Amino acid sequence: MEQATKHITQLLEEIPDPEIPVISIIDLGIVRRVSMRSETEVEIDITPTYSACPALFTIKEDIESLMAHHGIKAEVKNVISPAWTTDWISDVGREKLLAYGILPPEKGADLNHLNSSKPCPRCGSINTKELSRFGSTLCKATYQCSDCKEPFDYFKCH
Ligand SMILES: [Zn+2]
Repeated sequence: MEQATKHITQLLEEIPDPEIPVISIIDLGIVRRVSMRSETEVEIDITPTYSACPALFTIKEDIESLMAHHGIKAEVKNVISPAWTTDWISDVGREKLLAYGILPPEKGADLNHLNSSKPCPRCGSINTKELSRFGSTLCKATYQCSDCKEPFDYFKCH
């Protein structure tokens, strides 16, 4: 069973986050539990990054169709408590976000994120300003670097 769970988790790594395709739903930390019910049935709990994320429905469908493709029936459950936190993003996930030009939050940044500066992911300048609280999606805020003038997204802490 443990082998099977591992295998399922590896398969899930192929599913990109619908909003940030460079990062998988595993790296994003939204897959909370993978539990084999039998050899061909699995229960998967996912936690949305944002309570209103419309992407959640897409993720559920993606998981179900991928599992069906591998002959496994998946039951995907939406677990909203405990709430997803940016601390659940894996280290690999953080690197991928940064490489993509999205500044990943510091671990444990939830408390002071409103006051702390957001360094530019391209040039590292901390001379940046918030353009919009709600960036390209509800899950991100858009910032602009005052030095290199590049806009970038910041993954908001909830
Ligand atoms: Zn910059």
